[in-house]
Amino acid sequence: MLKREKDVTRMRIVFISYMTALGIAVGSFLNVVIYRVPLKLSIIRPRSFCPSCKTTLTTMQNIPIVSYVVLRAKCRHCHAAISWQYPCVEVVGGILFAAGSWHFGFTWQLPVFLVVFAGLLALSVTDFLSLLVPKRIVYAVLSLELPLMIAASTANHEWSKFVTALICAAVWFLLFFTLNALSPRLLGFGDVRLSPVLGLALGWLGVGYVFWGFFLANLVGAVISLGLIASKRMTRNQRIPYAVFLSLGLFLSVLTGHLLAGHYRGF
Ligand SMILES: [Zn+2]
Repeated sequence: MLKREKDVTRMRIVFISYMTALGIAVGSFLNVVIYRVPLKLSIIRPRSFCPSCKTTLTTMQNIPIVSYVVLRAKCRHCHAAISWQYPCVEVVGGILFAAGSWHFGFTWQLPVFLVVFAGLLALSVTDFLSLLVPKRIVYAVLSLELPLMIAASTANHEWSKFVTALICAAVWFLLFFTLNALSPRLLGFGDVRLSPVLGLALGWLGVGYVFWGFFLANLVGAVISLGLIASKRMTRNQRIPYAVFLSLGLFLSVLTGHLLAGHYRGF
């Protein structure tokens, strides 16, 4: 390997490591969002506290992953168990940011997708726990995603991609809006509200990514639902946390869409 190549590889590893650490920190913030937004509490004040005894956590008790391990998953004051959900969201946040920075590198696209990944992680958890897709989170994601996308389009002079993104977002929204109007039980309005976030992000990469992401979301959703129904852990009439599958579909499409592009022209 040439010296220059070695330097580039080393810089890439350093960059991805930094982004992973950032993802873990963002995951820690998302835990606050996931806990407080459905309860309609402020996400800024007060400082993080134990949900059981309400004691404010010290900085040392609030370090992502590390504190969970050091405290052995128990609150120091009341000894109530700390949910494994906290370190889980932090680890997944780290994985998402690592995958994003590995895939996009140091580009204008990266911040857009990091915002989308982080937002979808929070929404997946709230949807999984309580079948909720809170609008406060959806609008927060949109209000960051859109300006970042406009900044990236300006910097790269790629306005046609932005127009494609807007059209995909509109079409996806209309499709879900119609499905919701026909059967609100089949598709909740939370998923309708979420659709522009997905349509913008995937449409920006290309129309093919939208179809591929939507296909993957439904494939994964169908396989898991059928598995749960077959093993009698879910009934046929139970609602599924669709936002989880839509998020998974988006993530997989972002990472694998370019592989298909090599096989199909105009993808
Ligand atoms: Zn406590």
